[in-house]
Amino acid sequence: MAGNWKMNGTKSTAKEFIDNFSLSAELAEKRQVVICMPFTLLPFWSEYGGEKNPVIEIGAENVYPEPKGAYTGEISVDMLKDTGAAYCIIGHSERREYFSESDEFVNRKMNALLDGGIVPIVCVGETLEEREKGITQQVVGKQIAQSVIASAGEKDLSGIVVAYEPIWAIGTGKTATSEQAEEVCAFIRSELDRCISTAAADSIRILYGGSMKPANVDELMSKPNIDGGLVGGASLNAADFSRIAAFEE
Ligand code: PGA
Repeated sequence: MAGNWKMNGTKSTAKEFIDNFSLSAELAEKRQVVICMPFTLLPFWSEYGGEKNPVIEIGAENVYPEPKGAYTGEISVDMLKDTGAAYCIIGHSERREYFSESDEFVNRKMNALLDGGIVPIVCVGETLEEREKGITQQVVGKQIAQSVIASAGEKDLSGIVVAYEPIWAIGTGKTATSEQAEEVCAFIRSELDRCISTAAADSIRILYGGSMKPANVDELMSKPNIDGGLVGGASLNAADFSRIAAFEE
């Protein structure tokens, strides 16, 4: 279960979250919990959270694909590793929309993360207009082909994470029904199977994201092709995210 804090959080809110998030020892054994956060929080969380609440792994929300050099304001894979980050979100719809990030650029980021040993969480998803036009599979299929499958043969993709996030469900309170979410996650898995391998399709974890919250997590997680969630708003609250991470099987 992964949280996406987006552009939220300071050391004091992070400390409060770390102090209040809890998962039973039994669930902590078998669940993976990650919070992806602004770069500025990573070193603090690594130190304080690593000691106080080690069940939470940490991730970044973006990375630049070049190893170093004259890229003012950017952060490399090595810099992320230096903070203790184990995951990194790439291709989030907000970055695709506000920062014009293309599938090709997302693919470069994925390759750089894989080379550096950080797990990429690659986001894909359609707009409301695309869904209403009936082209969801076409749109998501193209994103998966160009941002992920393009590296098949060159990279071992079995450890990556893919997040299906219908854009119309992000931050809107409007969750996809579990059937809608399952349908697209199953489609993504079948594309991974068809274009990479059955072994890769079985081991790649597929998350659903878009207004996931305590009230709908159990229903979404009951679907066979939904392996977890990418949670925005509800991951900012330790009690809500504790409940989400403790979804019922
Ligand atoms: P949300 O965001 O849970 O607030 O809808 C999800 C995301 O953007 O990753």
